[in-house]
Amino acid sequence: MSSGIETSAVKSWVGAHLVGGVRVEDGVLLEKVNPARPGTVLGRFPVAGQETVERAVMSAHGRLAAWRETGPIARADLLHGLAALMERDRAELAALITTEHGKTSAEAAAEVARSIEIVRFAAGMGRRLGGRTLPSDSPNTWSSTSRHPIGVVALITPWNFPLAIPVWKLAPALVAGCTVVIKPSPLAPFTAQRLVELAHEAGVPREVVNLVHGGGEAGTALVEHPLVRGVSFTGSVEVGRHVQTVAAASFTRTQLELGGKNAVLVLPDADLTKAADAIAHGAFGQAGQRCSATSRAIIHEDVFDEMVQLLAVRAGALRVGPPDDPGTDLGPLINDTSLKRCLDAVADAVRDGARLRAGGTAVETEDGGYFMAPTVITDVAADAALATTEIFGPVLVALRCRDFDEALAINNSVRYGMSATLFTGSLKLIGRFLAEAEAGMLHVNRPGVGAFPHMPHIGTKESQAGPAECSDDAFEFFTELRTATIGVG
Ligand code: NAD
Repeated sequence: MSSGIETSAVKSWVGAHLVGGVRVEDGVLLEKVNPARPGTVLGRFPVAGQETVERAVMSAHGRLAAWRETGPIARADLLHGLAALMERDRAELAALITTEHGKTSAEAAAEVARSIEIVRFAAGMGRRLGGRTLPSDSPNTWSSTSRHPIGVVALITPWNFPLAIPVWKLAPALVAGCTVVIKPSPLAPFTAQRLVELAHEAGVPREVVNLVHGGGEAGTALVEHPLVRGVSFTGSVEVGRHVQTVAAASFTRTQLELGGKNAVLVLPDADLTKAADAIAHGAFGQAGQRCSATSRAIIHEDVFDEMVQLLAVRAGALRVGPPDDPGTDLGPLINDTSLKRCLDAVADAVRDGARLRAGGTAVETEDGGYFMAPTVITDVAADAALATTEIFGPVLVALRCRDFDEALAINNSVRYGMSATLFTGSLKLIGRFLAEAEAGMLHVNRPGVGAFPHMPHIGTKESQAGPAECSDDAFEFFTELRTATIGVG
C-alpha cells in the first residue's frame, strides 16, 4: 500500500479529551469501528459533558494573553515544527485515516500531503499578518490598521477529512494568535487527537490547543460558551443552521462550511473522454463523501447517451473493496446509516421511474464493510429529491439539457452552491459560466474537486456562511481589525 505502513499496525486507541495537555477520560465511552471491517474496534473515546467543555474553554482562555503576546512570527515557527512532525509521521497518519474513515491508502496519503502543505502555507503567513497604512484627514497624523486574534475559538469538524479540515482551521487560528478547543466528529475522533498531540510535541503550549470528544451536546456547549468568541464549523446545513442560531444570541462570530450538490455541465463541443474521467473522479473518489463531490452531470442532449455510456463503463470498472488494498478504487461509506441513506435514496428514485445505468447496490465483502457500488442513474427530474439533496455517497445523477442556458438554470436551481464545473471549448460560454454559475468554487475543463492551500475554500447560498477557509483569506475569520490614529506633530 502506498502509505508505507500496514493499517493493521495502527495501534488500538484509548481516546481522551486533551485539556491543557492532560488526558481526561471522563464521560460515557463510545466505540469507533473500522468502516471496512466493522468487527474491528479501533478504540474507545469518551463523550464530553458540560463540565469537560468548561474546563477545556477555561484552559484555552487562561493562555490567551500569553499566546497573543508571543507574536505571529514565533507562533508560525512552531507550525513549521508541526509540519516537520507530520512529515515524520506521514505513514502513520495515512494509515490512521484509512482505518478510521475508510478512504483508500492513496487518498489518505494525499490528504496527509495536502495537510502538511496547508500548515506550511499558514506558517508562511506569520510574516505577512500586517495591517494597512492609510492617509489621514489631519496633518502630522499617522493612520493604520492592525490585526488581532479574536480570542478563544471552537473548531467543530466533520469526519470526511479527519486531518485536513482540523488542520485548515487550526493552523491559521494558531498563527493568528487564537487559542483553541477542537471538537472532532465522533465518527473520526482519533486522527484529530493525534494532530493535537503532534502540535503539543512541536512546542505549541498545551493550553493553547485543547480537544474534547463528543457530538451535538459537546458542540452546543462550546457554541454557547460566553468565552468562545468564534466558531469555525464544517458539516451539514442543518447543524450549521443550529450553530448559527445559537451563536447569534451572543454575537459569536461563525464560519460555516456546509454541504453541496455539485454539478458538472457538459456541452457537445467538450472532450467527452476528459469530461467522463473528471466526472468519475469527482463523483466516486472518496466514495462520493466530499462536500465538493460531483453528484449531478448536466449533459447536452446531443451527447447525452454517449456520455452516460462512458460514465457507466467507468463506474463499472472501479474496484470496490478494502481501502488498504492497493488495487482498490473505492473504500466503504462511513457507517451503516450512511450506506442505508444512499441505498434508500436510489431505491426511492427508481420507484419513481429512474433508470440505473450502473451500481445502485451494496457490495458484500468478507468483513462486512459498508460498501456501495459506484452508481450512475438517469431519468430523474432535475427537481427530484435525488437531484437536489446532498446524498454523500457514490451516486451520480445524469440530467439531460437542451442548451447552455438550461444547464446553467439546472445548476443554479438547488439551495447549495459549493462547486460547479463546465466542459466546453467556448470562451464565450466559459465567461458566462464564471459570471452566472451560483457556486463558490468554479472549474473549467477539469475535475470539480480539490482544495488548495493558497486558494479560498468557499461556497455560496446554503453551502457557506462567513469568511472563506484556506488561503490568506482564512485570517479574516480568526482576526479582527483595529485602527490607530496617531498625532506626531
Ligand atoms: P454533521 O453536521 O453531522 O457534523 C459536523 C460536526 O458538528 C461534528 O463534529 C458533529 O459532532 C457536530 N455537531 C453535531 N450536532 C451539533 C450541534 N447540535 N451543535 C454543534 N455541533 C454539532 O456533518 P458530518 O456528517 O460530520 O459531515 C458531513 C457534512 O459535512 C456534509 O454535509 C458535507 O458536505 C459537509 N462538509 C462540508 C465541507 C465544506 O468545506 N463545505 C467539507 C467537508 C464536509
